[in-house]
Amino acid sequence: MALQATGPVGAMAWAAHGACSDVDPDSLFVSGAAQHRAKRVCGSCPVRLECLAEALDNRIEYGVWGGLTARERRTLLRQLPEVVRWRPLLDARLSSATPARSDRSRYAGAQE
Ligand code: SF4
Repeated sequence: MALQATGPVGAMAWAAHGACSDVDPDSLFVSGAAQHRAKRVCGSCPVRLECLAEALDNRIEYGVWGGLTARERRTLLRQLPEVVRWRPLLDARLSSATPARSDRSRYAGAQE
C-alpha cells in the first residue's frame, strides 16, 4: 500500500482500496515533473476523491494525492482559502459536472 494511515484507526481506511496499493510508496512522493508521470496511477483509482480531500483538508504539501501534484493542490488551496473540509465541495462539483457522473458512481461504491 502506498498511502499509509497516519491518523486515528480507520481515518484512512479508504487507502487500502487505492490503485496505488501495490506500487512503491516512494514513486508517489517525487518532485517536479516526475509527479505528472506518477499521478497516472490515480486515473483508475476508486478512492481518488477521498484521497484528494484528505490531502487538501490536511494541507499535505508533498507527493501525489488524489491525482493532483503538490503544485496543483496548492493552486486549489490558494483559490479557495476559506474551505476547511473539501469533501462536500468535491462531491458537489462531481455531481454538477456531466463527464464526472461515472466517476461519482465509482466513488460512491468505494465509500465505507
Ligand atoms: S488517488 Fe492516487 S495516490 Fe490516492 S489512493 Fe488513489 S492511486 Fe493512490
